[in-house]
Amino acid sequence: MKNSSSYKITFALALLFVTYTTEAQLISDEHISKNFNCIDCNLKSTTLNSHKTLRINFHFISRSDGTGNFGESTNIFGNTSSENGYWISDLLINQANNYLANNVEMTQQLSYSPIPVEEIKYSYKLNGVFFHKNDSFYECYFAPNSLTNNIGCAINIFIFAGRSGNGAAYYDACWIGGIESSYSDYIANSNTWHLTRRANILNHEIGHILSLDHPKRSPGGLKSTIGGTQYTDNCNDTPTFMELINDGYSDPYQWCNGEYSNNIMDYSCQLRAFTPCQINQVHSYIECCFTSYLYGNYQNSHVQINNFSENMAYIAEIVEIPTGASITIPNSKKLYIDAQELIINGEFFVPLGSTFEFTPYGL
Ligand SMILES: [Zn+2]
Repeated sequence: MKNSSSYKITFALALLFVTYTTEAQLISDEHISKNFNCIDCNLKSTTLNSHKTLRINFHFISRSDGTGNFGESTNIFGNTSSENGYWISDLLINQANNYLANNVEMTQQLSYSPIPVEEIKYSYKLNGVFFHKNDSFYECYFAPNSLTNNIGCAINIFIFAGRSGNGAAYYDACWIGGIESSYSDYIANSNTWHLTRRANILNHEIGHILSLDHPKRSPGGLKSTIGGTQYTDNCNDTPTFMELINDGYSDPYQWCNGEYSNNIMDYSCQLRAFTPCQINQVHSYIECCFTSYLYGNYQNSHVQINNFSENMAYIAEIVEIPTGASITIPNSKKLYIDAQELIINGEFFVPLGSTFEFTPYGL
């Protein structure tokens, strides 16, 4: 009996410790496995990949009274602040791009097959930020199709206040949770550590969208069983659980200790490293099946803006405010235009406090 109760106490303490250290990290997620067959990704590293820039939309769903998430001019606690939804979107995308621009060495290596560090060579461009007041979807924890924008041209990301440490990825949309606890930590401690770590999760979920799988986890995020069926991704250079065990590891699932994995698609305290195969697979998948999401690739040649009330993002070779239209951007709203050319024939007002973003493609 004595032994049994001391075991329980130790176990409870271990749980507390894990909960504390994993606050801003991905604890579990679900994803649609794309089973993309990248024919040459395992042969060797290739450098055929040009840099690719993917369009990203951020969405914030608040309650119908506007509380419970970042707003156009408010922080997540409803206070008017420059730390609003636009601010957190910029912070997340800049940090995610910073991680993508600085690949790191894999912490889990096989003694007989070292994994080189190569450039990742893709990044994100903020295409638009959208705010929704919707009780039905406030805690839905999926990416509601009815709220997505620029379908087929931009990845839509939903930021939820709750569900710390969770996320999910679908075909071309994903969600990440826990932004309220991360922001609370930032307020309490005046550092952005927990906030910027959300960008780890962002890169992980977009990794799924770009066809990557968990190297050692089942698609639902559960551990593959020791000695049982081993879940593997399509990449030979991400060590499998049994390869690591056979090479002297004792617990490759460790969260943040000596044997932990820092691979972008594993679960740990640091999701950072891409293997050459993972990089090649992403580039191969984009070139195969996802080119319409690339900045500079236009599905529409000509789009007109006839009215504007809520944030919108227009993507076309030519975007036009036609004769007869009168567009005024309300206070704290933003109009995003991704085009090679903008033609203004109608009336267009951008009062103080509103924003209009247009950088002609190629400049
Ligand atoms: Zn995942």
